[in-house]
Amino acid sequence: MVEIESIIARGFSSNVFIVKGEKNFIVDTGLGDEMIDGIRGDVDCILLTHRHFDHTGNLEKMMELLDVPAYAYHLEAEALRKADDRTILSSSFGTRMPEIDVKDLNDNTFGGFEVIHTPGHTDGSICLYHRDEKILISGDTVFPGGGVGRTDLPTGDMVKLIDSVKRLKEYDVESIYSGHGYVVEEDGSRHIDLSLRNISYL
Ligand SMILES: [Zn+2]
Repeated sequence: MVEIESIIARGFSSNVFIVKGEKNFIVDTGLGDEMIDGIRGDVDCILLTHRHFDHTGNLEKMMELLDVPAYAYHLEAEALRKADDRTILSSSFGTRMPEIDVKDLNDNTFGGFEVIHTPGHTDGSICLYHRDEKILISGDTVFPGGGVGRTDLPTGDMVKLIDSVKRLKEYDVESIYSGHGYVVEEDGSRHIDLSLRNISYL
């Protein structure tokens, strides 16, 4: 049984999810205090879908608040350890990222979810899939209603994004928790089909 509490963002922040199941973890930290206010208690760690500042701007604060480690795919973790402002996009937000000790995600499963490497929006973006519950946590790879993440930012790549969305199509998805926008509660695979149709057309 997996329960996901969603903190849906307004403005520039990403959404934040509190996942409770085999492991209790937070997906992405968002940006701004209002994304932290509802967060407390019993969490084992933070998992980042990718390095972008709208998903990681609260990372240092949240790690301190909860006293937990953070994980990301190794390419993203490395950028965050180096505080690579150019690819994190912190400079676009008019600020600098501190160097943060984010650990490499070494396994292809995480708390009962399969970790799917889905490069395209950034080169180390990931999605998480829960097979029994048919849940996809999609970061900025796909959005509800047939959207996809931008590929014109540093380390972005449209060809890779198309491949990644094709791979997501192979999963039987009911609900989608994406980095921006609303939560899809049913028929998630149809939204992924739409995303693929939209980019294949470009
Ligand atoms: Zn992003």
